[in-house]
Amino acid sequence: MKTKKKAQGGAMSCLECGAHLRTERRPYRYRFKGGLSVTLENATVMGCPVCGAESVAIHAPARLHRAVAEAVVRKASRLAASEVAFLRHHLDMTGEQMARHLGVSKTSVSRWETGREPIGQVPDRLLRTLVLLQDWRARPDLGLFARLGSTAKPSHIKVKLQGEDWKAAA
Ligand SMILES: [Zn+2]
Repeated sequence: MKTKKKAQGGAMSCLECGAHLRTERRPYRYRFKGGLSVTLENATVMGCPVCGAESVAIHAPARLHRAVAEAVVRKASRLAASEVAFLRHHLDMTGEQMARHLGVSKTSVSRWETGREPIGQVPDRLLRTLVLLQDWRARPDLGLFARLGSTAKPSHIKVKLQGEDWKAAA
């Protein structure tokens, strides 16, 4: 008869203080490189009951990135600084590469991403188009381009893990 190995304790311990972490599913505000912060509606959050340290387990990170990019591309107001940076990372481009794709200077891209200057209304549409071309699955709503507002305000994006995929949440 085989001896069953004792299950490796499912509970992980806190890197800060060593206490056992509690895992719960709850909304979590996640910050991407470039500053965009998004609510993950049903994130798996591991929290330390002793010192309060918190970490989040990101399931299917590439799909999460794509769901957020879809939501950013569909927003009805001009792209905000952190959203421009997010879309550039999503396209896996350097500032210089994106500048070349959009036909602008590297300085312009850097000014948009630091918020010193809002992205122009034409490069805004072109950037969204590049993302839509790359993520063909995101059915484009071309009418949106005609309705786009000119104010650059960050939108509060929420996404939810459904099965194996991330979806924009209302
Ligand atoms: Zn702790």
